[in-house]
Amino acid sequence: MRYSNLHTHTTYSDGKHTVRDNIESAIEKQMLSIGISDHSYTDFDLTYCIKKEDIPRYIDEIRALREEYADRIEVYLGLELDGYASLEDRALYDYVIGDCHYVPTPDGRRSIDHSKHFFVEIGENYFGGDYLAFAKEYYRTYAERIQIIRPDVLGHFDLVTKFGYIDQDDPRYRSYALEALVASLEVCPIVEMNTGAIARGHRREPYPAPFLLDEIKARGGRILLSSDSHDANNLTFFFDECVELLRENGFRSIVALSEGRFKEFGI
Ligand SMILES: [Zn+2]
Ligand SMILES: [Zn+2]
Repeated sequence: MRYSNLHTHTTYSDGKHTVRDNIESAIEKQMLSIGISDHSYTDFDLTYCIKKEDIPRYIDEIRALREEYADRIEVYLGLELDGYASLEDRALYDYVIGDCHYVPTPDGRRSIDHSKHFFVEIGENYFGGDYLAFAKEYYRTYAERIQIIRPDVLGHFDLVTKFGYIDQDDPRYRSYALEALVASLEVCPIVEMNTGAIARGHRREPYPAPFLLDEIKARGGRILLSSDSHDANNLTFFFDECVELLRENGFRSIVALSEGRFKEFGI
């Protein structure tokens, strides 16, 4: 099948390649569509996000390239919007992936995504080594921020499992994750299956975990494939395996952005 990927990063944030490099690679891979979704500007953490002054150029460049490549591929203007970021000009974007990279702490908030070292530091310093309590607070935050930003796609839902410190079989863990998932699906029924952490060697399974897929299916949610790529060569990384996994979990279609709307494609 012809794939689509709406979760891609470029040199506008922490990606390795330009917007044009990504589009060229997508054409080479005979993809149906590609969306660029660099990290939204977050004024409290400038380590990885788009620079505020670059936003107009980002929008103009992607729009210009959409025209230039219109006869070869569909190109969309997106954004990965962190739950703590604000977005005044949302109407300018074709879609927004919403997620949360932080957990609140008494002295502000900490990135759970940055590195294993930082993750453990949060777990030890703020949760006394109780990673279940850490996960509970993360999911509470995720659901809360999703209600506020109301995205078009739920991004890397179980990111808190990235570094392997959470026992995903613990029923308490599952109840925290499921409660947040149900609340989030009510405002956004499209969930990405994200392979980014596999490409970067942190995991062997995509987000979300199978027990979450079951809940998404039971509630009529829909799945969109993404590789959260920071490298233009990884645009469809692990997608064939994801389709297989989805079939095994009873899904018969995925969604992709095409002709300006989210459409179902049989798998
Ligand atoms: Zn992210
Ligand atoms: Zn991302």
